[in-house]
Amino acid sequence: MKRLLPRLMNALLIGLLLFSCTKINDPVPVDEHDDVTVEKDVTGEAVMTVNLENNDGPDGAEGSAKLIDNDTLTKFLVRDIGDDGLIVEFQFEEPTQVASYKITSGNDADPRDPMDWQISGSDDGEEWVPLDKQDYEMFSDRNLTKRYSFKNTRKFTHYRWHITKLYAGQMFQASEFRLLSVPSVEQVISPFTKIDTITREGLTLFFVNKASDFNETIKDEMVEVFFTNYPRLLNDFNPDAQKEVAFRIEPSFDGVAYVFSGFATYGAAYMTNNPNDLDVVTHEVMHLVQSYAGGAPGWLTEGIADYVRHVYGLYNDRANWSLPDYQPGQHYTDAYRITARFLVWVEQSYDSDLVKTLDDLLRRGQYEESIWLQRTGNTLEDLWTSYEADSQID
Ligand SMILES: [Zn+2]
Repeated sequence: MKRLLPRLMNALLIGLLLFSCTKINDPVPVDEHDDVTVEKDVTGEAVMTVNLENNDGPDGAEGSAKLIDNDTLTKFLVRDIGDDGLIVEFQFEEPTQVASYKITSGNDADPRDPMDWQISGSDDGEEWVPLDKQDYEMFSDRNLTKRYSFKNTRKFTHYRWHITKLYAGQMFQASEFRLLSVPSVEQVISPFTKIDTITREGLTLFFVNKASDFNETIKDEMVEVFFTNYPRLLNDFNPDAQKEVAFRIEPSFDGVAYVFSGFATYGAAYMTNNPNDLDVVTHEVMHLVQSYAGGAPGWLTEGIADYVRHVYGLYNDRANWSLPDYQPGQHYTDAYRITARFLVWVEQSYDSDLVKTLDDLLRRGQYEESIWLQRTGNTLEDLWTSYEADSQID
């Protein structure tokens, strides 16, 4: 219906024009911007060039030619996109309208996926007109095709896709990239993205919302938890942690939340369905504070993040979130709340500064299991055995 209405209006308009034009015997005016009548993949009409090529050349197994070979199972790989990013340029013989493009992710290693980019058009390859910009994009699956659309009735001879940031690291890969002409009445702007920049007392939060229907109250409360707890965690654990943080609300992520590449991603559906579970934020931002060296045990990393949620959480009661009582069959390596409760118990029984000590050593890459013996007079295994026998905490 949305698409039909403008079409009908257009037909009506053209009818009126024809009627009045015929009457005065003038030639029918042609709208040069609106002669795209059907959507069309125009990629094959252009010559593609890249500023960075695969080491084996354009026709190599992972060369740039694979980006436009109409096969979403082959890919283009660039080892290092450098500081200026990767520029994929298309030159058409005839001025061509483009209002949509498709990107297909590679077959492996999602850190190589493009995350931030711009699309622009040009008449001469010198002066560029911005047409579309995407930030914090996510490809939730391998060989997944995502379509992006913008409004453009201008015909350019040059288009370019400028990738400025990857999900993580510097190695780029993508399976396919296609350009499409779209009739102006069918043009839309998608996908939805809204980025709010909130700065308070030296900290900046980029709230990147990819879900058009995300609840404003949940957003405001997540922002409040961030600006309340992040300064506390910086102060108590790691004053050198990053001062600019991004939160991404992601509809295509069906989990709870995770931190990767220096920013936090929250499942849009999870947060919408669990509006009280706001201290997920406290747990996730602790991961940014942690930024542990390689080799940190995962169970301890997650145990400390939930310990922090237990101590600093603002809405744990509202979320019915608490540390579960000890149950036979548990182990300290179970991570999350089970490890967190054990950490509380060891602090109350032996060493009230244990978690801060562990956190500091983990960040410096100097954690060894002997630290438990040094700090408490008991090995980790012996501590757990004692905990199993009497796991009382205050
Ligand atoms: Zn975690």
